Amino acid sequence: MTPHSLLDAILRGAPPVRRRAMAKAITLLESTRADHRVQADALLTALLPYTGRALRLGISGVPGVGKSTFIEALGLHLIGQGLKVAVLAIDPSSSVTGGSILGDKTRMEQLSMQEAAYIRPSPSGGTLGGVAEKTREAMLVCEAAGYDVVIVETVGVGQSETAVHGMTDMFCVLQLPNAGDDLQAIKKGVMELADLVVINKADIDPNAATRAQAQITSSLRLLGFHGNPERDPHDGELWNPKVLQISALQHQGVDGFWAAVCDYRRLQTANGRLSLRRERQALAWMWERIDFGLKQAFRAHPQVRALLPQLQADVAQGRIAASTAARQLLAAQAGGAPAVAHA
Ligand code: GDP
Repeated sequence: MTPHSLLDAILRGAPPVRRRAMAKAITLLESTRADHRVQADALLTALLPYTGRALRLGISGVPGVGKSTFIEALGLHLIGQGLKVAVLAIDPSSSVTGGSILGDKTRMEQLSMQEAAYIRPSPSGGTLGGVAEKTREAMLVCEAAGYDVVIVETVGVGQSETAVHGMTDMFCVLQLPNAGDDLQAIKKGVMELADLVVINKADIDPNAATRAQAQITSSLRLLGFHGNPERDPHDGELWNPKVLQISALQHQGVDGFWAAVCDYRRLQTANGRLSLRRERQALAWMWERIDFGLKQAFRAHPQVRALLPQLQADVAQGRIAASTAARQLLAAQAGGAPAVAHA
């Protein structure tokens, strides 16, 4: 299939044709072959005018918190309202070990049988930045194919939450109703990213869930969101994070969750924050990929490769200052001249 016929099938194909075209397009975008990348970039550029209308929703939480149970319940709820839902994932373990924390095939069985749902497992291999890039691109394919809500799921460990926050309109953190867990998330700085905190499994211990809700609500207030331009507790026109209780297993609270998401979208559209967030994300994405590409080119440079082993050993053993070594390597890459004034 040429990029042109792929695009046509994604935009206008009947459901089965469209799904096959989406899978093909995403596989093309995930390919590391240089000739595929040229086609993939052409496809992305052609897709772009048809993207941007979906709501991009990030969902994170530790393994076992109930992400797949919740996403399935939410997905079915949205499909019941006539919406189309895509679910993508960023599995941080896949970039390290090639394994999978999220596990794929057996999750969300009911949702995966729905014609209005599209579920794609995490891209595997490569760096987290690479996995995130593939997911961003897959998101654009889903949007062009007319999906109204694109959910990007990740596990609550490491940098993957920052990556998902950086590609979604709204970032939701699922929590278990116990205090230790809350404190951990706050310490890690994840709460500062959350637009919505959802306490799941409220059915198991409703009192604990209510306590957790009060505790997290006051912690969020205490955090004060210093330095975060998207937050200001004193500005009524800006969104302030909410804390909800749900039971994903019993499908309780899913409608309340969706109502909060819709409130958020309305408010952030009216005050211009949603488009601002997307603009920032697109530029940050570009620079992140430039940094990565430059670093790769730097490491592949013959002069750098020749000097690197000895200089690394010298820095590690304390024979040469790290900054001096960096300047020498940058100069080598720039062909002998000092590459930058201050490395
Ligand atoms: P994930 O690892 O975050 O995707 O978590 P899962 O969705 O696989 O859920 C982990 C376990 O918690 C499963 O056995 C679910 O049935 C259970 N679970 C999920 N949500 C709830 C809930 O609201 N209440 C109760 N009691 N159990 C739940």
